Amino acid sequence: MQSDQTISCQKNPPESKVLLPGGTIGILGGGQLGKMLAIEAKKLGYRVGILDPEKGCPAAQVSDFSVVADYSDLAAVAALADASDVLTFEFENVRSAPLKEVAVSRCRICPDPEVLHIAQNREREKNFLAANGFPCAPFAVVSSAEELEKAAEVIGFPCVLKTADFGYDGKGQCRLEKGFDAREVWHRFSCPKGVLEGWVPFSAELSAVCARWESGETRCLPVSENQHRHHILDASIVPASIPSEIQDQARSIAASIAEKLQVVGLLAVEFFLHCDGTLLVNELAPRPHNSGHYSFDACICGQFEQHIRAICGLPPGSTELLSPVVMVNLLGDLWPEGGTPPWEKILVNPALKLHLYGKSSPRNGRKMGHFCTLAPTVSQAVADANFARETLGLPPIQRG
Ligand code: AMP
Repeated sequence: MQSDQTISCQKNPPESKVLLPGGTIGILGGGQLGKMLAIEAKKLGYRVGILDPEKGCPAAQVSDFSVVADYSDLAAVAALADASDVLTFEFENVRSAPLKEVAVSRCRICPDPEVLHIAQNREREKNFLAANGFPCAPFAVVSSAEELEKAAEVIGFPCVLKTADFGYDGKGQCRLEKGFDAREVWHRFSCPKGVLEGWVPFSAELSAVCARWESGETRCLPVSENQHRHHILDASIVPASIPSEIQDQARSIAASIAEKLQVVGLLAVEFFLHCDGTLLVNELAPRPHNSGHYSFDACICGQFEQHIRAICGLPPGSTELLSPVVMVNLLGDLWPEGGTPPWEKILVNPALKLHLYGKSSPRNGRKMGHFCTLAPTVSQAVADANFARETLGLPPIQRG
């Protein structure tokens, strides 16, 4: 463990549920989500500490101090907890049990690591959803080629095999068609356990990011319509072009899940809108979400500020959408060898907001930044986003 600055602080009493500006927020994870959380926390006058394995990670660039260590380094987690009044996390791949053991006696953790425990594992997540009557695709947990073969017969084709643990952005997923070779697929999958899911014929992918306070109060951001490329979020469009009743339903399901999980902070819920008009929950994330990035520029109070308000016990901010918006992810693939994309050419649109995360190596598929186009209408925001995409060599967003 390495620490790059003095990390001592005067602590808020642990029983206090309100942390006023001046207090210290510790964030596990220093990627772009941590960076945007830190920016909003700093705007509100908090001190911010980051734990991340990479020195100079995006969030550390805008924080008061950072601890450079692996997430499994319990002494490092304890040091961050000792220096913080409240601890939160920006991604799910932190083991929840040691986190609880080490941090809980030192400071508040929001949301509770139990929420992390459920959301970081597809088997527990699906079982939680099904047990509580939340709609999701049919699924089965499988741990051998034989179980996979049997489950696929019951669920039907096509279906998709996903890793139970620590999967995201389509990593560790395999779509199966009738006649597939279960032994070969299981061998290639090489995980002890998987979740087999029915393939959902969807007309749209949506998400609702909901913030919940200790008091039970909730605020949900406007629903975003999400488009993926190669299993990674490519663009979010807000307002979504789906009936308002369905958007209300999505927000209401997200708030009910947040309530059931007793989340304090953000819960992002990704949905499939089935071709028959019903909503199915795809995934949960108890943290800021890529599909909520648009809110940083386009809402009175975006997801990052709302998370800070919720975990610090400050009153909720307004989620009002100030303008139609399209958010486009910028992956490492866009970077020419040894150079940078022509940002000055897309910034000719004065209503385009560019966010670059400050990551040093632009690998293919790595999220390096995003931009948002704001315009008086959604179609204008899409047209503006497409103009910028063409400049960068990206295919246009297609809307059905
Ligand atoms: P995930 O990592 O589970 O969010 O999956 C990444 C993307 O793969 C989703 O956003 C969908 O576009 C697609 N996908 C995953 N699961 C399914 C499914 N059961 N039915 C249809 N598409 C899926």
